[in-house]
Amino acid sequence: MSDVYFAEAGATKSKDGLLNKLRLLAHESGVTGIVNKGDTVAVKTHMGDSGNTTHIHPAIIRRVVDMVKEAGGKPFVTDTTVLYGRRRFTELGYLEVASENGFNPESMGCPIVIADGMNGMDGMRVEGDWNVLKGVEVASAIHSADAMIVVSHPTGHARAGFGGALKNMAMGCVTKRGKIVQHSVLRPSFDESKCTLCGDCIDVCPSRAILLERETGNIDFDVDVCFGCEICVFSCKQKAWVSNVDMIPEFQIRVADSAAGVMAAFDPGKVSFVNIALNITWHCDCTDFSDRPVVPDIGLLASMDPLSIDQASSDLIVESPGVRGSMAERVDALNPGVDKLSRINHVDAEVQFKTAERLGMWQRRYNLLRI
Ligand code: SF4
Ligand code: SF4
Repeated sequence: MSDVYFAEAGATKSKDGLLNKLRLLAHESGVTGIVNKGDTVAVKTHMGDSGNTTHIHPAIIRRVVDMVKEAGGKPFVTDTTVLYGRRRFTELGYLEVASENGFNPESMGCPIVIADGMNGMDGMRVEGDWNVLKGVEVASAIHSADAMIVVSHPTGHARAGFGGALKNMAMGCVTKRGKIVQHSVLRPSFDESKCTLCGDCIDVCPSRAILLERETGNIDFDVDVCFGCEICVFSCKQKAWVSNVDMIPEFQIRVADSAAGVMAAFDPGKVSFVNIALNITWHCDCTDFSDRPVVPDIGLLASMDPLSIDQASSDLIVESPGVRGSMAERVDALNPGVDKLSRINHVDAEVQFKTAERLGMWQRRYNLLRI
């Protein structure tokens, strides 16, 4: 059983403000105790997509950066490029979006590094023998850090079931190739009979797997080139692209394995976790919008165990009442005890969590210590 430290949201005086609670939590839990003098420390977070307003507040990340400096470390705030064709596809595009969302070297007081480089291909392979993966390509800048504090925003996720510390490492700390290894199992199928040849999916496909055949005027789908991002599924109004939902468990297994691979890039005891359970949406921070949060703000969690902190975050969300007017109400999931995120997304995190537990590195059972 692993310890998970928890500070509830809410304050009526400065002493109880979130940033002060974060400092206390970090000290009690030891998440900043992993930093030795002179260590280069990756502060891994998600800086939100353009249009998303429920990502972690920059002031919270700045507080983590300050605590790393106080411990003698040399921090940099980091994330990686994405697979799909929005601005965060490249390093420069991501840096622009990050700055618009309040994350830049001035606001953070340290460099911002897109860890997988200009085009998302800079990585170092870590070999291992996990459930199905035998290697993970960790983003270069993260691989070269001495320590990492993973600051995650727990949310729902359409495929992983739950997006927290494990997902932040699995998908967020690897190169595009590392992401494709996980996503490729979700390659959709194409129902030609429904296609009206509007061309929308051709425009959004980041891998150019969908082309218009010049001779026949039909859609040509090159499945070997497709990497399973499912952007076409969400963009086609005719529902001609069909998700491969049967492969969601396989995707979740790969997420757990990839997280293990990222951990293996560090010496034991050099990675710690903070979950910011505020503005909890049914969707992740990769969306270019923010829906109303599904539960009231819960608080801050800290642990040395990514599975325990995710399980505890998920349990606190389940135990919480839903917010009226949010998606939780639309799916009749307002009562405490109902798994709101799973009901909304039609997928739970059971396989992700079970697989992570099977790796033998992390605990699903936890000891919740309130501060
Ligand atoms: S978006 Fe749908 S309807 Fe339009 S070309 Fe693609 S498959 Fe056909
Ligand atoms: S075909 Fe669809 S799932 Fe495959 S890469 Fe293109 S948009 Fe993504």
